[in-house]
Amino acid sequence: MPDNCLFCKIVRGEIPASKLYEDDEVLAFRDIAPQAPVHFLVIPKKHLSGPSAVTGEDERIVGKLMRIGNEIAVKEGVPHYRVVFNNGSQAGQTVFHLHMHILGGRNMAWPPG
Ligand code: 5GP
Repeated sequence: MPDNCLFCKIVRGEIPASKLYEDDEVLAFRDIAPQAPVHFLVIPKKHLSGPSAVTGEDERIVGKLMRIGNEIAVKEGVPHYRVVFNNGSQAGQTVFHLHMHILGGRNMAWPPG
């Protein structure tokens, strides 16, 4: 876990977060700057810099992010939601630790900006 990675610090408990789910592999917490009435992030505890860093050995955990994210979304009352993974700064990635956004509770536009 890189010392200076923001989400690794959240995983280690060095920075507080509003946690929605945690096990030994996955953590979910509310986004600090929500872009929808419900907006949370689901991350692997293992440090991966983003979608392009995912390898074959990570495939199971990426599927788990989706399963856990869906379970939380349903609990949060937003069974219709948008899933976003940003890969690279031009795509809007600002934190370089793989994270899945789930946004719900409002109508979504398409295409995304
Ligand atoms: P990205 O732009 O990299 O896809 O998404 C990073 C997300 O992390 C942003 O939506 C941003 O609001 C969120 N974020 C940044 N810093 C923190 C923090 O310290 N705590 C939480 N909970 N979310 C954060």
